[in-house]
Formats: sequence, C-alpha cells, structure tokens
Amino acid sequence: MTSLRNEVLTRGRPLPLPTLDTAPFYEAARRGELRFQRCTACGTWRHYPRPACPECMSRDYEWALASGRGEVYTWTIVHPPTLPVFEADVPYNVVDVLLEEGVHFQSQVLDCPPEAIRAGLPVEAVFVPVDEEITLVKFRVTPDQSKPHSE
Ligand SMILES: [Zn+2]
Repeated sequence: MTSLRNEVLTRGRPLPLPTLDTAPFYEAARRGELRFQRCTACGTWRHYPRPACPECMSRDYEWALASGRGEVYTWTIVHPPTLPVFEADVPYNVVDVLLEEGVHFQSQVLDCPPEAIRAGLPVEAVFVPVDEEITLVKFRVTPDQSKPHSE
C-alpha cells in the first residue's frame, strides 16, 4: 500500500464525519493502514463498522489490519448531471471492491479510464490525505496485475 496526496481530488468535497463506530477506521487510514472490524468470537470480518457481529451477534471485536488487496466486484460510471463540486471529474468511476478478507468497500479506482474498469480487476488501497482528520481510502490497479505488453 502506498500513500499519496492529491488535494485536487478532494478540495471542496463533502467529507466523512467520523462517529464512535467509524473513528478507528479513519485513525488507521491516517496512518496508512486499512483496518476493518473482525469478530474475536467467530473471526468474521465486517464493514461498515458496527457494534455487533452480523454472523454470531458477539459484541467482541478487534480492528484488524487488512491487506488492502482486492478486486472490483461491481461499479458504475458517473456522468452528468452531478453535484457542481464533482462536475470537473465526470465521467468517473464508483466501485465496490471485494477485499481479500471478504468485505465489500465502496470507493474509487484512481488513474483508471472508465473503459478499463471491469469485474475482477485487481486493485490495491491507496491513502489520500484530505486534512488533519480525514484520509480517504481509494484504490489503484495493482501494478503487477496490469495489462501485459502485447503487439
Ligand atoms: Zn462473530
């Protein structure tokens, strides 16, 4: 996983407001770590953050470090009309990434043209600091999985 700063990507955008449940996720992202809740009773990973395990209802969990690797599960390409603050970016992708840990995460694949987005595209997390509190987790196409050279 790598870090990058791209203020152009996020300036003026609505940002997440961490809650008691989500604050540890954003604290980890600030450190360049992708962490999800994992039930310490049955081992199930989960996202979005919530107080109890959806499998066994245990309230015992840890914030476990995820690999940051996954693949595009499904996606959409956003075209106009959109909110004015996003107009400069259209068309852009919104993806559901299925991470190796089995959790789904909605985000965006950076530096990837709309026509290159596909189900199964291997991606890895990157961290985009926005301000002192919020670092967004986005994705990039996994470099060693990108299209091989061909004639
Ligand atoms: Zn559980």
